[in-house]
Amino acid sequence: MVDRVLVIGGGVGGMSAAISLARRGIAVTLIDADPQWRVYGAGISLTGMSLRAFDDLGILDEVRARGFVGAGIRLRSVDGHVIMQSPVPEHPLPIQSSGGIMRPVLHDILSRTVREAGVEVRLGIKAVRMDDDGAGVDVTYSDGATGRYDLVVAAEGIFSDTRRMLFPETAAPRFTGQGCWRILAARPSHIDRTEMYVGAAVKLGINPVSPTEMYLFVLEHVPDNPRFAPEQQLAHLAGLLAPFGGDIPAVRASIGAASQVNYRPLEWMLLPAPWHKGRIVLIGDAAHATTPHMASGAGIAVEDGLVLAEEVAAHASVDSALAGFMARRFERARLVVENSVRIGEIEMAAGDQMPATMLMGDTMHQLQQPY
Ligand SMILES: Cc1cc2nc3c(=O)[nH]c(=O)nc-3n(C[C@H](O)[C@H](O)[C@H](O)COP(=O)(O)OP(=O)(O)OC[C@H]3O[C@@H](n4cnc5c(N)ncnc54)[C@H](O)[C@@H]3O)c2cc1C
Repeated sequence: MVDRVLVIGGGVGGMSAAISLARRGIAVTLIDADPQWRVYGAGISLTGMSLRAFDDLGILDEVRARGFVGAGIRLRSVDGHVIMQSPVPEHPLPIQSSGGIMRPVLHDILSRTVREAGVEVRLGIKAVRMDDDGAGVDVTYSDGATGRYDLVVAAEGIFSDTRRMLFPETAAPRFTGQGCWRILAARPSHIDRTEMYVGAAVKLGINPVSPTEMYLFVLEHVPDNPRFAPEQQLAHLAGLLAPFGGDIPAVRASIGAASQVNYRPLEWMLLPAPWHKGRIVLIGDAAHATTPHMASGAGIAVEDGLVLAEEVAAHASVDSALAGFMARRFERARLVVENSVRIGEIEMAAGDQMPATMLMGDTMHQLQQPY
């Protein structure tokens, strides 16, 4: 029987778990190490899988209102000509849709929903000690407070402290060879879906994130994993955008000191099953951090939270709930992580990109199946 749960980490995965567990009448405490509970200001792409998970969490209408939900994709050549435009269903279901939203907007929607669900939120603290005696977990926080919980859910992201504590033998996240640039720009009215520019040395995409804004992402092959100092970033990104036509010259011309630019080297890790020891379980990037090639990291993290709550409600013991959780999650996470990394490898090999396109289509199809 699970009455009290601690969720460590208030990202999309932790918040999904907290909301879903609290709505089942469980007393949930959520802690986040960041006293301001911030999230960095980049856009995020949403696949049908992510939108279905938001629908199941009850936040899809607000995501639609404050972000962007549409369907279909448009491919352009490097000079900006339309090569292909996929047909769009008249009234697409969430799973047939795609979209985008700014991370701080998604955070605002989710964090308000967390509080409305009655979750106790404590910020600026960490769990510095956890003692699992088989019947419960005694937790000591960094501010000296203590608590006892039936289940601890660690959702601290790719650099999870709890993963290092529970599974010290696990390899650290690995750099893939690519880095991701993201920049926010004004959205012209004809940008009504995701667009990809194909055939260049870098991969460039555009995604609407609100009625008036879109974000651009550029994946660059950077085998030496360079560090880009903040003062170098605008000029470097402008150089990457230089070969492109279509809407890109206007974006390039608008880049300036006020632009929101974000650069992240891509890293991944997949914790072997099971992702739990005793009454402590890892979810989201803490267990399966992926690259953005399938735009599915946030979606599988949200699904983790939904599934965990379902399994906790369906089983009398924590052991069987966590076994049920693993049975539904490992292969799905492996599919996303391994195929995302593989697509990046094909891109970096810079040969025939058809295998990457096929792999993406096949993976998307499998992810459309119920979670
Ligand atoms: C460059 C890039 C682009 C991406 N683009 C997309 C995309 O377009 N679409 C998509 O779906 N996914 C994308 N992803 C993946 C997605 O961002 C992640 O999969 C998702 O954010 C994981 O959510 P999470 O809740 O597991 O972890 P996080 O979002 O990392 O949240 C972890 C939280 O835990 C807190 N925390 C950390 N340590 C502690 C601690 N010790 N104690 C307490 N709190 C702690 C942090 O403050 C944070 O709030 C991208 C990833 C990268 C790197």
